[in-house]
Amino acid sequence: MMRPPDATAVVDREWFMIIDNQPVGAVDGGRLEVVNPATGQVVTTIPAATEADVDAAVAAAKNAFDGWRRTPAVVRARLLNEIADAVETHGEELARIDSIDNGTPISMLRNDIRLATTQLRYFAGLALELRGQSIPPPAGGLNYTVHEPFGVVGRIVPFNHPMMFAATKIAAPLVAGNTVVLKPSEHTSLSALRIGELCAEILPPGVVNVVTGLGATVGARLTTHPDVTRIAFTGSVQTGLGIQRQAATDRVKTVTLELGGKNPLLVFPDADLDAAVAGAIRGMNFTWQGQSCGSTSRVYVHRSLWHEFLDRLKVGVEKLQIGDPQNDETDVGAIVCRSQYDRVVRFIEAGTADPRARLIAGGDVEGPDAGLFVRPTVFAFDEGDCDSPLLNEEIFGPVLSVLPFEEYDEVIARANRLPLGLTASVWTTDLSTAMRATRDLEAGYVWVNTSSIHIPGAPFGGFKNSGVGREEGVEELYSYTQQKNVYIQFELGGGSH
Ligand code: NAD
Repeated sequence: MMRPPDATAVVDREWFMIIDNQPVGAVDGGRLEVVNPATGQVVTTIPAATEADVDAAVAAAKNAFDGWRRTPAVVRARLLNEIADAVETHGEELARIDSIDNGTPISMLRNDIRLATTQLRYFAGLALELRGQSIPPPAGGLNYTVHEPFGVVGRIVPFNHPMMFAATKIAAPLVAGNTVVLKPSEHTSLSALRIGELCAEILPPGVVNVVTGLGATVGARLTTHPDVTRIAFTGSVQTGLGIQRQAATDRVKTVTLELGGKNPLLVFPDADLDAAVAGAIRGMNFTWQGQSCGSTSRVYVHRSLWHEFLDRLKVGVEKLQIGDPQNDETDVGAIVCRSQYDRVVRFIEAGTADPRARLIAGGDVEGPDAGLFVRPTVFAFDEGDCDSPLLNEEIFGPVLSVLPFEEYDEVIARANRLPLGLTASVWTTDLSTAMRATRDLEAGYVWVNTSSIHIPGAPFGGFKNSGVGREEGVEELYSYTQQKNVYIQFELGGGSH
């Protein structure tokens, strides 16, 4: 199926924030333009919230908290399942919105709809599993723990999976009994606003609020607001560090951070070569224009496979179809926004100007006039690691670096050398090598003979500067609760050990 003629109709309307289940603009009437990165056209506008708008959203969430926490867990679960159903029903519309707003191919975004509904239903199913403990007390007493919600959760999310993050990052806090103020990226807010509208049809007022605007205004106010006691942030290391500092300005808050990566993929001499090449292409997430935190953007290949691997990688990468994100056949779409595009281009220019980097594929950009397209690009560093920014910084674009290695200990040390540790991927048919590598790699999520896959219910999060906390599994649910211990002396005169 080719591009439908009315593909952009889904965004051609007025967009409002959702506060207390009401559609609202910013108090000062401010708005931001929404640009389709594949065409450069302004397709609509969104509210640019002020601090006063954030305050209104937090007040609504605070007001709703008491009723929501007292809502039976089974009812909260049922409502979350209704949100999952609504996301499914409106799946094609949501995928189209993201494709226009974010530039990712429609086929990938349809997959995000499936992941989002799975995740929402997973957390709904956990509602009755939020359990405390009974701890042996002295005679005549009872000691137990309960998990209580924090209150208002500030949830700040990035641009790369707009709908999926808007839908799934509210699930655990809601199931645990918190209310939420969600702040999507200023580059990709439309699907979050649509999710806010769908939630407003299902949830009581104030339980989910969506505020849009700039990070430095809206995100910063949310982070420092005295009534937001729990902050959960997904985004870059740099912003995450700032959030940790801001959140600690004058009070103690619970903060979890899901941050960036510069993740290694290791191909040992006994690997299935074709599978490893396909795994490296998949792991780089070229079909998300490389805009995925878990992307394995540093590929280490054993010297015995070096030339063969690069030859096959070039063929595989050059097969990817770059083009209109609305087209079902497109593999690689447009980079989300001009600033991100310029950043990616700077890395590619650094690579092409560096004699240590050998261009294997791509390297050319189509120019912003034709949309923000960057051809999937591969550089080989024949002499190994060095101070090139391509090997040391998260690019968050379709740029893959490949390096040779000789020995197990050497490649593990090189894989672990950066202060990041989100994911890693290992390719080998030797069980012992696989087990040693899973033990030795400093990363929160390790794949063996696969890449990029998220298993529903499995904890996702980073070592080192890649983050604090784990999401997508039961740990995330508990992270939105604080434990309370209760000791009851029901026979007076007891109580001493
Ligand atoms: P970003 O850090 O620029 O922005 C993320 C969010 O933070 C946006 O909503 C932004 O408006 C907001 N923000 C910006 N400044 C703020 C401030 N001072 N206070 C509060 N909020 C502020 O990230 P991005 O460019 O949107 O996303 C890309 C990054 O996200 C990459 O580094 C990627 O690795 C990371 N990421 C991590 C995960 C994960 O699960 N670990 C998932 C997706 C993306």
